[in-house]
Amino acid sequence: MSDSFDVIVIGGGPGGYVAAIRAAQNDMNAACIDKWVNKDGSQAFGGTCLNAGCIPSKALLESSELYHRAQCEFDKHGIRLESIAMDIATMQKRKTGIVTQLTSGIEMLFKANKVTGLKGIGRFLGDGQVEYTSHDGEKRMLSATHVVLATGSEPVELPMMPFDGDSIVDSWGALDFESVPERIAVIGAGVIGLELGSVWQRLGSSVTIIEAMDDFLFMADRQLARDAMRQFKRQGLDIRLGAMVTGAQKGDSGVVLSYDDAKGTQELTVDKVIVAVGRRPYSEGLLADGCGIETDEKGFISVDRECRTGVENVWAIGDVVRGPMLAHKSSEEGVMVADLMAGEVAEVNYNVIPSIIYTAPEMAWVGKTEEELKTAGIRYKVGSFSFAANGRAKAMEQASGMVKMIASEEDDSILGVHILGPMAGELIGEMVLGMEFSASAEDIQRTIHAHPTLSEALHEAALAVDGRAIHAMNK
Ligand SMILES: Cc1cc2nc3c(=O)[nH]c(=O)nc-3n(C[C@H](O)[C@H](O)[C@H](O)COP(=O)(O)OP(=O)(O)OC[C@H]3O[C@@H](n4cnc5c(N)ncnc54)[C@H](O)[C@@H]3O)c2cc1C
Repeated sequence: MSDSFDVIVIGGGPGGYVAAIRAAQNDMNAACIDKWVNKDGSQAFGGTCLNAGCIPSKALLESSELYHRAQCEFDKHGIRLESIAMDIATMQKRKTGIVTQLTSGIEMLFKANKVTGLKGIGRFLGDGQVEYTSHDGEKRMLSATHVVLATGSEPVELPMMPFDGDSIVDSWGALDFESVPERIAVIGAGVIGLELGSVWQRLGSSVTIIEAMDDFLFMADRQLARDAMRQFKRQGLDIRLGAMVTGAQKGDSGVVLSYDDAKGTQELTVDKVIVAVGRRPYSEGLLADGCGIETDEKGFISVDRECRTGVENVWAIGDVVRGPMLAHKSSEEGVMVADLMAGEVAEVNYNVIPSIIYTAPEMAWVGKTEEELKTAGIRYKVGSFSFAANGRAKAMEQASGMVKMIASEEDDSILGVHILGPMAGELIGEMVLGMEFSASAEDIQRTIHAHPTLSEALHEAALAVDGRAIHAMNK
């Protein structure tokens, strides 16, 4: 194997592996170094997303949602079950199988695209030089015209309750429970906390979510966030806002958490604590002294809009740089930098990055919220439509939530779309495409949406923007 490449990517998550494949498609000789090691000692490309994030969490959300629906919904369809039981070992085996299929798929894609996949640690030394240390400690000096830093992020640990891999765990640990804990506390009511809390609550745990902020899902549309919280509470999630955790004591009866809220100091005893208070950029051991790469006060590698670091031909993408920590944002940055290196025109439209929470109902949004538009002094009009009036949602027995579309008062362009309801994560795709192509609410109004589909709710919300909804009273 040659030690010289056109591109070396350090980090093989959805940012890094996509950048390497796209660079190879652009006729560049690319290598991708990744150091991920699973708990069973296996090494795999795919980063947090495939190994310990997006994919395993969605596998468990699906299993637990089916179990919940079989218990609570099937009888409405006339399906009578004699008995129902959840086999956690089988559920976990299925999850691991999906993860393994997808991560080994990356190696096949590397082969097909002639990307050199290297398992081990990469360290950027400066001047196009990368030190590669294999998992058995062998070192090699590699060089490249371009270097992409894509080393991702890691969970934030709370100093008063360090992870112990057993009763106090991070999100990865929470994906691996071998039985259903009786009592769980989730610290943090963000996307990850809500998804993991939902999984175990549906499987039978009593789940308390403790959130320091007074606002629930502060980044989402206020109306939909309130509605979501009502629905999650009705499902049995005990969400406590304005509650600041102060300590954790491990004892015979479990972990005793203390937290302060408006009423004073409170205690809660649980079997497992899932700490989901956020993630921070990860660049440990990545940058040799004097290599010229700068990080900001939070540890993010500093980049411009095109993901260029201050050092020529060195790029950084994904969770390790500014912007939302999302797999699809990482991947798009990977594509952009690989195209820019090849001399093509490329950009990421940071205004239309969709956000999704895979709870039931799902929540998804793109663009601005009403609150953001008010603060910016932008005049807008709003149309909304409830899934209660959507035939497909009714047939699915999932007719809760709504679509809210926000369009510019000035030129009717869509400024934001917010969905709480069934398959919101799939529905938002149409709106992302629409916004990418600068669609107006009228464009959506005049687009045929098949009947009966959930997407008709988008159509009706667009019509409602101008007071023309057909299947709802217009204000
Ligand atoms: C529980 C959970 C659920 C999530 N669900 C979603 C979701 O549904 N949708 C979504 O969009 N996002 C989701 N995310 C976030 C998503 O996983 C991240 O945004 C995404 O993985 C970031 O991609 P990345 O390539 O930047 O970094 P990562 O995926 O973190 O990959 C970085 C890789 O670099 C490797 N690395 C680090 N340092 C070095 C080094 N020096 N040498 C070699 N390799 C190195 C790491 O081992 C890792 O494999 C979730 C995250 C979690 C934790």
